[in-house]
Amino acid sequence: MLFTGLPSTDVEALRARLYGEVYGPDDEGWDEARRAWNLAVDQRPAAVAFPVTDSDVVAVVNFAREEGLRVAPQGTGHGASAIRSLEGTILLSTKRMRGVRIDPGARTARVRAGALWADVTGPASAYGLAPLAGSSHDVGVVGYTLGGGLSWLARKYGFACDSVTAIELVTADGEHIRTNAETDPELFRALRGGGGNFGVVTALEFTLYPVESLTAGAMAWPWERAEEIFNAWREWTRTVPDDITSLCRILQVPALPDVPPPLRGRKLVVVEAAILGDLDMLGPLRALEPELDMFAAMPPAGLIEIHNDPKGPVPGMGDHRLLADAPAEAIAALVAAAGPGSDSPLVSVELRHLGGALPVDAAFSLFAIGMVASAEAAMAIDGALARVMDAVAPYDAGRALLNFSERPQPADRLFDGYTLNQLRAVKDRVDGDDLFAANHPLR
Ligand SMILES: Cc1cc2nc3c(=O)[nH]c(=O)nc-3n(C[C@H](O)[C@H](O)[C@H](O)COP(=O)(O)OP(=O)(O)OC[C@H]3O[C@@H](n4cnc5c(N)ncnc54)[C@H](O)[C@@H]3O)c2cc1C
Repeated sequence: MLFTGLPSTDVEALRARLYGEVYGPDDEGWDEARRAWNLAVDQRPAAVAFPVTDSDVVAVVNFAREEGLRVAPQGTGHGASAIRSLEGTILLSTKRMRGVRIDPGARTARVRAGALWADVTGPASAYGLAPLAGSSHDVGVVGYTLGGGLSWLARKYGFACDSVTAIELVTADGEHIRTNAETDPELFRALRGGGGNFGVVTALEFTLYPVESLTAGAMAWPWERAEEIFNAWREWTRTVPDDITSLCRILQVPALPDVPPPLRGRKLVVVEAAILGDLDMLGPLRALEPELDMFAAMPPAGLIEIHNDPKGPVPGMGDHRLLADAPAEAIAALVAAAGPGSDSPLVSVELRHLGGALPVDAAFSLFAIGMVASAEAAMAIDGALARVMDAVAPYDAGRALLNFSERPQPADRLFDGYTLNQLRAVKDRVDGDDLFAANHPLR
């Protein structure tokens, strides 16, 4: 692949306009600067900028436009694997723009572009409040929210993007604007779920939800019982109220030192759930006599721990489908592809229960992932992902969620026809020259 980094004189010119740092291919620290959270991704931008202030962001956008380059906003690089190319593109990393303000009276949070979920969940939890955060502590709030955001409270409160109340962003013409439901409602709607296609978001404001009582955690069984447990869980999901959001997964736990001993190196089938209120809905699952039962009452901040996501960057390769349903035949095919006897190298193959307040025409979200330790492992994982996706093909709902799409997807799988037309109209209006390179473009 042809790689054209920015000449060092241009890197100097950009650097002179910013408080923050700028790296070009000739600079010491280049490899560190261009590294994504997903270590399996080899990002090759023209340059990397680390703005510190909002005016730094304006400076990067103006420079790119003047020089005929593009801008790819990035918080952490959790979603970097879907980016097709960074050729002729400045990677704009918001890592140096952390900062969170919680207003407990108004039950809102304001975050800067680079905030991670753990920056919000802890401080909000101290007031008994919860944001609609994802399962991982170090996913970026902005990237997650622009892509929808499926949280542990999703069936009760919907996608995270629908709880956003105001967004500040730098547009393609270098203006720093604030948008909400009153000022430019079309742009505001497009940003909430349409991804990073419309500008560089510098701040987000969103609702926090009071949590009076919360029980959450996981139960695990040996993976030989995968088919039975998946089927029992699916039946259980048909009985639960919107106060419960849950998932069921096959988990091949890596034998790593930072994994707790009861889980290390085990092959398990696991049910994880968050239960709002005092409901004792776990009876049918407990009747299946789990080997491990880690459900407990907890403050909202505890939710970020229950999925046991990696503590730091890893090389991951994943794939995703939305499923219209998961009948016994789908479960049997899934377990045959990823369970005992399958030789699957996939670390996790999970079904998340949708419905409730989630406006999506699918019953379950499937996400499967493997860790890419070598080129050989990559081939094995690629094959295993294909087998899992093929196994459930008859139940494919025909759509996908941005956040779980780790591979490029045609835009008409991510959005229905009406929404896609609306998004494209906004894109043409605010960024007609396609300055912003999102991981999920609209065309
Ligand atoms: C371990 C793990 C756990 C996860 N758990 C969940 C989960 O529970 N629920 C869920 O919904 N998703 C989950 N995800 C998916 C995650 O939400 C997406 O990968 C999301 O894109 C990550 O956002 P980020 O900012 O961290 O990543 P990035 O790769 O930095 O950003 C992704 C995209 O968002 C856009 N973007 C980011 N920042 C800006 C900005 N300031 N302005 C404009 N555009 C911007 C860009 O288009 C960028 O390409 C998980 C991912 C991982 C790896």
